Amino acid sequence: MIKVKNLIGGKFVLPAECFDDISPLDSSVIAQIPRTRDVSAAVKAAALAQPSWGGLSISERCDWLDKIADSLELKIEELAQLESLDTGKPHEVALNVDAERSINNFRFFANFGRSMKEETFEMKDATNYILRKPIGIVGLISPWNLPLYLLSWKIAPALLMGNSVIAKPSEITPLTAYFLGQVCTEIGLPNGVLNIIHGYGPEIGHAIVEHPEIKAISFTGGTATGKIVAATAAPMFKKLSLELGGKNASIVLDDADLDIAVPGVLRASFLNSGQICLCGSRVLIHSSIYDEFMSRYLSELQSFEIGPVINEAHRSKILSYIELAKEEGGEILAGGKVPDRPGAWLEPTVVAGLSHESRTATEEIFGPMVTIHRFDSDEEAIEIANCTDYGLAGSVWSKNRGRQIAEKIDSGMVWVNTWLHRDLRVPFGGVKDSGVGREGGMWSIGFFSEAVNICVIED
Ligand code: NDP
Repeated sequence: MIKVKNLIGGKFVLPAECFDDISPLDSSVIAQIPRTRDVSAAVKAAALAQPSWGGLSISERCDWLDKIADSLELKIEELAQLESLDTGKPHEVALNVDAERSINNFRFFANFGRSMKEETFEMKDATNYILRKPIGIVGLISPWNLPLYLLSWKIAPALLMGNSVIAKPSEITPLTAYFLGQVCTEIGLPNGVLNIIHGYGPEIGHAIVEHPEIKAISFTGGTATGKIVAATAAPMFKKLSLELGGKNASIVLDDADLDIAVPGVLRASFLNSGQICLCGSRVLIHSSIYDEFMSRYLSELQSFEIGPVINEAHRSKILSYIELAKEEGGEILAGGKVPDRPGAWLEPTVVAGLSHESRTATEEIFGPMVTIHRFDSDEEAIEIANCTDYGLAGSVWSKNRGRQIAEKIDSGMVWVNTWLHRDLRVPFGGVKDSGVGREGGMWSIGFFSEAVNICVIED
């Protein structure tokens, strides 16, 4: 039994109450998690640490990020095992998607920091020098689907820019954030620079968002929670980055190479049991290739390995959407049932025959369930893709017209003939109800710093 502790000011501490961390694989209790309600000790520690951390040079902070990456890399197997234990995802996904990327986030921002050049703007009679100052203390809140992957995506640039951090992982998946804290204390990261606290979102998450000394909030999670976070933080003029939900379309055009499109769309549908904000939960297929695509897609689905969903409550939500799909006239082409075993398992589910405007086809389900839609023209595909309130991501599968169609999709990110192919320098984020702001490369640097202009006239 793992006993997770809060990391505050370089020390591991426990509040009075704890609650259970339940395995999605078999519903056993795998850890005890602190139920933290008060953020003031973490704020005090972060405030004490920030001036000297912010006073280091960028290159010194890059060295620290590299040290964290080195240390995690040596323990990559342990990291993947913890992530797999907490989320139930297959080891291969925990290793090659979660653990790899968590390490790479620190490595990437270390290298990115070293490559940053001084920004100046010359006028005829003056030079403008751009300074990027730390914000101070920043609050980072992340969900359970890609636990350390998403939290380290925020921690690395926040530390790089000289901020001290108060991070809160999801209460459902705290193990790898705790592990990161252990690694950082082992390598001697200065006390209080990285504080990691655990507990329920509406309690300690809310306390972070509403604390006046925490000057910026980077939040990844559901759109409904994002609204609460925005409403709490905005009156204090906090900097806010909101990475929220999605209902992304995978569009297969009539000229798609099906050898690439079928496995690609399948991966976009069901990787991580469909619990990635970027997953393509709506599959749009041109009528002329519909039968061939669907027969190959359903056949390849038989050998696609997925884990359970995150917990039984989430499975109940997905099952309610399967019932709704039936009520809305959908035909279940695959899955739809709960396997007879302990844990939060659910068969990957494919539904056809629904209107693209139905609730099932427009609301975020966030599980191993996709809806299938036919279209007859590029215009119709674009109209279907854009008909939800979300605008996070999407993919287009086509030999000749992919980019042209991609430009017309109202989303922050669109892939052509690939999916989840990430260059960490590019902007990441959504439009419409999928969020506000961008992270990644220079966008993260911009968010986690205050850009100040010094305009100088010298002889
Ligand atoms: P939630 O919005 O429920 O939770 C996200 C985080 O917010 C968790 O750490 C949660 O804590 C915390 N939280 C909950 N309530 C509050 C509150 N009132 N104030 C502050 N923090 C709070 O999302 P899920 O964890 O269920 O994650 C799934 C969602 O995340 C999906 O909608 C998905 O699309 C989205 N997502 C978006 C991504 C993007 O980049 N756009 C990437 C990945 C996921 P706790 O868990 O302890 O309740």
